[in-house]
Amino acid sequence: MTDLTKNFARPEKTEVVVTFGSLDLSVQELLTAAFQVRQRAYVPYSGFKVGAAFRAKSGGQIFSGCNVENAAFTPSSCAERTAIAKAVSEGATEFSAGAVIAYEPEVFTTPCGVCRQFIREFANEDIPIYIAQSIDARISAKEEPLQKEDPILCTSIYNLLPSSFHTYRK
Ligand SMILES: [Zn+2]
Repeated sequence: MTDLTKNFARPEKTEVVVTFGSLDLSVQELLTAAFQVRQRAYVPYSGFKVGAAFRAKSGGQIFSGCNVENAAFTPSSCAERTAIAKAVSEGATEFSAGAVIAYEPEVFTTPCGVCRQFIREFANEDIPIYIAQSIDARISAKEEPLQKEDPILCTSIYNLLPSSFHTYRK
């Protein structure tokens, strides 16, 4: 019998927590871009700021985005979708890595279900997704936003959304 599950998205990367300082400079740059754009988050209702950044596979350009809330709530956009919509609008539809940064004490903030599917649309392979915490107190103290010993969750889109919906028709 044909294996109807053989094309399912299965994690190809191991999910690990490492320190910021141990990451390649290109990844540090991606996380820093997500940190910077987080400052522009439009969140008058929740106050929960998120920044995201994706690196285009071709050319390596970084596209970043923040979350944008709306008084009617439903039209709100998450940071990940803002970043990817900006990239697609400018011709980039394939990415080599993504980064997401927000802040909740004691936990990493991972993309919501809608964003996982949105990222998956543009990930035909298991791209790494780096998750960091942004400590707002450091910003007001004018400290480095991301420090060498900060924990970073290195996951991937297939870890976040295995067996995802995907059409193979083009
Ligand atoms: Zn989302």
